[in-house]
Amino acid sequence: MNAEMIEIGVEATMYRAAPSVGVVRIRPLEISERIRNGLAKLGTFWGVGLVCVFFPIVHLVLVPLCLMLGLQSAWKATQVRGLIVSGSVPCPGCGEPCVLSARLAQWPMTAACVKCGRQIGICPAQ
Ligand SMILES: [Zn+2]
Repeated sequence: MNAEMIEIGVEATMYRAAPSVGVVRIRPLEISERIRNGLAKLGTFWGVGLVCVFFPIVHLVLVPLCLMLGLQSAWKATQVRGLIVSGSVPCPGCGEPCVLSARLAQWPMTAACVKCGRQIGICPAQ
């Protein structure tokens, strides 16, 4: 287990609102964790594809689709290099703090404001 944490600044954007800045703490993922995440995605999609084999006609489309989506999502999952441990960013619309925790650090990401319910776009600050 890698115990080191990285703090990075993030920028929150919203339609018709000035961007706001916050901070998140990220735990870097080890290569074994990244491979495990990728295999989990691959297994999920390929499992759904296996179930789709038993549906006539639609299996001609769904099985190849699940196989390809499994490979693509597994590749994307192995490219995620960190896990957000804690952090928050103020909502650009209403100023309510939006708490970010226990999610993979895939940029850009979105979160919903708990106060105003609008979508917030979040990306690392430049
Ligand atoms: Zn809000």
